[in-house]
Amino acid sequence: MVPNTPPGCVTRFAPSPTGLLHLGHAHAALFAHRAARQAGGRFLLRIEDIDTTRSRPAFAEALVEDLSWLGLDWDGVPRIQSGHFPQYRRTLDTLAGSGLLYPCFCTRGDIAAAVAAQHGTPAHLYPGTCRKLPRSQAEARIAAGLPYALRLDVARAAALTGPLGFTDLLHGPRRCTPEAQGDVVLARKDIPASYHLCVTHDDAAQGVTLVTRGADLLEATDVHRLLQALMGWPEPLYAHHALIAGPDGKRLAKRDQAPTLRALRESGVSAAEVRAMAGFGGCP
Ligand code: GLU
Repeated sequence: MVPNTPPGCVTRFAPSPTGLLHLGHAHAALFAHRAARQAGGRFLLRIEDIDTTRSRPAFAEALVEDLSWLGLDWDGVPRIQSGHFPQYRRTLDTLAGSGLLYPCFCTRGDIAAAVAAQHGTPAHLYPGTCRKLPRSQAEARIAAGLPYALRLDVARAAALTGPLGFTDLLHGPRRCTPEAQGDVVLARKDIPASYHLCVTHDDAAQGVTLVTRGADLLEATDVHRLLQALMGWPEPLYAHHALIAGPDGKRLAKRDQAPTLRALRESGVSAAEVRAMAGFGGCP
């Protein structure tokens, strides 16, 4: 199930410490580990804890322990994203310097109302309200202390880079359509960064050459390729694996109370059995 991977490739597992790991995480971690080790490459661990409202140090400690119990070893010390906000700021400054970011003051309610008023705008797409805001008005709102996010002007960015694509070892060659996701947030109102920004920055900073993750993030990769092209960062290979499903056939998720690795372990299930349940029988 793990495809052939290039010799010496560098992969990573990048969980967010917002809960205990479940079998879906075990699958993702084992997949990334196997992808690196079968090719004599390196496997890295990254703790994606920029969401300081939801992340907990206790979950970060627990995931390190659970992964070790599962039999996984990683190269070097784990990277902790919350220690790198100044680096993410520098990337934002570079993009802002190219005129690709704009402040967005919209609340969720504002966005829902604007989407409802604009027939034909898909509900998940930002309707572009603040992109059209005159600069003087935006500056006045910032001076007045209104909270704002920073959004990427995706159409302008895509016009700069031209067409983009990537190679996925499981899905084949893909053409990117980042505009399908609208002007994504690169810095949140409450947190001076976002998932798209940090994950792409760190994959480049850590020299990740093969990004493995769940197929639910295939579309996110279109945005990441755009950021890589804008910043001059290397293009990694990708492998978006299938998500493992629970007994009801639905993907496992923390919010559905999927059994955690810890609960399985405490109920007497062995690490080898958990690896097999996560689709990786035998040695890690
Ligand atoms: N922190 C992200 C998650 O837990 C990582 C996704 C990725 O590998 O890009 O979903």
